[in-house]
Amino acid sequence: MKAKRRISILGSTGSIGVSTLDVVRHLGGREAFEVVALTGRGNVELLAKQAREFGARYAVTADEDGYGALKAALAGSSSEAAAGAAALEQAASEPTDLVMAGIVGIAGLKPTLCAARTGATIALANKECLVSGGALFQAEIERSGARLLPVDSEHNAIFQVLDTRQPSAVERIILTASGGPFRTWPIEKMRDVTPEAAAAHPNWSMGKKISIDSATLFNKALEMIEADRLFGAPGRSLEVVIHPQSVIHSMVGYSDGSILAQLGAPDMRTAIGYALGWPQRPSLPVQRLDFAKVARLDFEAPDEVRFPALRLAREAIAAGDLAGAVLNGAKEVALEAFIDGRIGLLDIAATVEKVMQRMGAPAATEIGAVFDADTRARALATELVR
Ligand code: NAD
Ligand code: MG
Repeated sequence: MKAKRRISILGSTGSIGVSTLDVVRHLGGREAFEVVALTGRGNVELLAKQAREFGARYAVTADEDGYGALKAALAGSSSEAAAGAAALEQAASEPTDLVMAGIVGIAGLKPTLCAARTGATIALANKECLVSGGALFQAEIERSGARLLPVDSEHNAIFQVLDTRQPSAVERIILTASGGPFRTWPIEKMRDVTPEAAAAHPNWSMGKKISIDSATLFNKALEMIEADRLFGAPGRSLEVVIHPQSVIHSMVGYSDGSILAQLGAPDMRTAIGYALGWPQRPSLPVQRLDFAKVARLDFEAPDEVRFPALRLAREAIAAGDLAGAVLNGAKEVALEAFIDGRIGLLDIAATVEKVMQRMGAPAATEIGAVFDADTRARALATELVR
């Protein structure tokens, strides 16, 4: 019998986590995988249900307060309940073959590092590890010998079409962006938009924060920083093109003029499955592209006046060090303020820019500096949105 693949899913109750478990189910479920740890926060019923279905060894909620409810929901099952940040890091440190890093935000950084230190392959969905952790996160990954497989659809697409045998032949890394729900809106109209309208993504179904980040193109800004970390090299350009159909997930341009692209239906399970199956391609129940139905693929240049996030990302990349942590920390606070109705959509970028101007790029000395930069950026942004 083939040995079961050990897997842990950090953030199993989220959008990425649920899709990952769906892929696991399609690839044989408990027969093919040994699920070591599942983690969530808040939604203990779903976490317990997942742990039961997949026979997870550990089910961990990040909230200390959730322990009683989780333990009760797991009564009679083979899964061990645990709660709190230390328990989460302990579960992430359990030996496995593959860890899906699907926790949202900077909260994902420490658990993902714990997982990497075991040498497990890291399927990376969380953006903040690379955006905020930057070179420090990558250095830790390298030290541990863990392999990083990008799950964010754009980076997964680039990973799929990047010819690693000829790095010097790669000229362009081209990220596609749907443009979000306000792609064609005049700036005056964007000023008064509600969080509900901003959360409605035209093509992808995702968590609320990432959907609003897509509407401001801050999601693409984070992805530019991510792409620079993963694929950046001297002489290579990093570009963003608006492609409203979201059929091309990203592209790589080569020195002979060739452009290789990865296309598919907008379904995160393709990227997740690619990471789970790598280096083989699994068979997945995702929709197949029908080109006659797609009919056309459109492209346009992004408008950085209405969407300054892209310019801010370029500035953060140029500044280096922990400028990404500053951009992200400030963005998180501004995004919360927008969701709470305290600031308008356009104030998100304005707030981030002010914080970036004041803080510059804090030195990337050690991983603790990432959390310091994040905390300071949040504090400054909190003052600005008050
Ligand atoms: P989500 O909000 O749906 O789920 C987040 C998960 O993290 C949940 O399990 C939640 O319980 C857990 N969590 C939240 N706060 C936590 C905390 N403080 N401590 C521990 N656990 C916590 O988010 P998502 O859409 O699944 O995205 C997860 C990550 O993947 C994000 O970084 C996102 O940017 C990235 N990503 C998501 C998509 C997508 O399609 N959803 C695509 C590309 C990248
Ligand atoms: Mg993406």
